[in-house]
Amino acid sequence: MKQMLDTLFRIVTNRKGSAEPYSLSSGQISMNAALFKRKKRYRPEDYDKLLSPYKRGHENLTYAEYVKMREIGDQKVLLIRHDIDHDYQTALKIAEWEHRRGLKATYCLLHTAWYYGHLDGSKILHTQNLVDFARRLHELGHEVNFHNNLVVTALNHDIDPVRFLSQELEFFRSIGVPVTGTSTHGDSLCRKLNFRNWELFKECCDERFGGPRTISHRSSGKLREIRLGEVSMFDFGLDYEGYDVMRDIYHTDSGGNLRTRKMARGRRPFGRRDPEKGEIVGVLTHPVWWDFG
Ligand SMILES: [Zn+2]
Repeated sequence: MKQMLDTLFRIVTNRKGSAEPYSLSSGQISMNAALFKRKKRYRPEDYDKLLSPYKRGHENLTYAEYVKMREIGDQKVLLIRHDIDHDYQTALKIAEWEHRRGLKATYCLLHTAWYYGHLDGSKILHTQNLVDFARRLHELGHEVNFHNNLVVTALNHDIDPVRFLSQELEFFRSIGVPVTGTSTHGDSLCRKLNFRNWELFKECCDERFGGPRTISHRSSGKLREIRLGEVSMFDFGLDYEGYDVMRDIYHTDSGGNLRTRKMARGRRPFGRRDPEKGEIVGVLTHPVWWDFG
């Protein structure tokens, strides 16, 4: 399957030998769109209804903006996050829809998604589709966030997750899209080995799963070990991890079921020294469940 997908990619190399972004084939794009179509279960009307209680009275911010606030006081804040995973075309439609309504959101771009690029040794060869997509989100006033599947990638391939993250953040800077936050992707390997990708960072290393430790995994006949909880996200110029923020009300469509939770935990108070004051409403969607036409 990997080989088949690789042949679908057109890799363009410039004269100096460094890889330039390459374009996905239209066949590959339509094949994926057809796969995602089967999963659609919510429509723009549902999204509008979900957001309507917060249209007045709540200030809509991106995560990057919120974590920089010094003190929210009595302010009510709406934070919208989209874990794009694989359906970037629906994500783009949502982004345009939100922009027309004066909304902004945080879009989490997954580096192991089919449209993002192609791992070549320890580096990613990016697609032009990713470059155009990230720039468009930025242009529309949305935030681009790095959807973190680093530990999983490092357990499956010969990459150093620290160097890899630096390379990717530099790549986004080079295309004019600043990235100041990460958000953890839930890969099946995380559940199997009982860790979360956020545990790469010492600020996020989680005692519930064992705290700072070494995890190992055998893939393609090779045993790899990764140390968790050693590096600081701040050394990468990052301000936050998606689950750092506590939310009083949290709407999520995880698993394709829209539901609401109260008091979703966070790690840091940010500009909210008195949790009795103010309100944070978090909305998390996965575009694959949404049909925006
Ligand atoms: Zn994800």
